[in-house]
Amino acid sequence: MRRERVADDIYVFTSELYAQVTAGLVVTSAGAILIDTLVFPEEAKAIRQFVEQRLNTKVRYVINTHYHADHTYGTCFFPEAIVVSSALCYEYLKTRGQVGLERTKQRTSALQEVPLRLPTLVFESGGMEIRLGEKTLELRPSPGHSDDLITVHIREDRIIFASDTVMPVPYFVDGRYDDLVRSLENLRGGGYENVVQGHGEIILRGEVEQKLEEDLQYLRCIREHVEHAIHQPDPQAYLDTIDIEKCGKSRIPLNGEVQKLHEANLKALLNHYQAMQKA
Ligand SMILES: [Zn+2]
Repeated sequence: MRRERVADDIYVFTSELYAQVTAGLVVTSAGAILIDTLVFPEEAKAIRQFVEQRLNTKVRYVINTHYHADHTYGTCFFPEAIVVSSALCYEYLKTRGQVGLERTKQRTSALQEVPLRLPTLVFESGGMEIRLGEKTLELRPSPGHSDDLITVHIREDRIIFASDTVMPVPYFVDGRYDDLVRSLENLRGGGYENVVQGHGEIILRGEVEQKLEEDLQYLRCIREHVEHAIHQPDPQAYLDTIDIEKCGKSRIPLNGEVQKLHEANLKALLNHYQAMQKA
């Protein structure tokens, strides 16, 4: 696991075990807040150890940005913390999350000891603020990657944990294309010092607007290709010729996984258009 410091009292942890998923730590005089918890016990426990032994404090709040396993499985290693999420995230964890964990346990021995820990403080639509010590965290709905997703903005530092709204390639297979476009547009002009992606490298101040523009451009590009594909005799065969680079994105990030995410995006959008045609 990699650890970076993005402000005096804000850290980012990046997994070396699963898809460069990130977690954030905000340290205050009244305790720490952990934003997402990674997947594997080994890394979640290492975060806990860092907080308690190196920083000599405790995690008071854990925020689950959305219900996906790679952002939530480590939550059980912070049993004393208040766990915060959107109401929808709570619902999804209780249903899909529980089923997914049982299934994953059958394949992955490293997760045997992981029980699902559900949020203990949930909010309905509209977001929420957490004030702890000197810090104010603004939790805002940001659907698209998944319906339940929230971002977390640290007001005093202008650092935003964007979760999977911002990734090396936008990914909406478990959410909605239009929502993701809107959520990315909402991040524009925010004047952020850093945008912490849900996966991959931290985006620095001077790169933020360009990154958001590139992501929106990518989404426009795949939409054009899908709109073209539905008029072809074999739409999927046409889409198979459209690789990620044709839509302006590198195929290198996340150890090349991004091409698979791109293919899944095309398929999901094609299904959506075909379902609309039939309706
Ligand atoms: Zn993720």
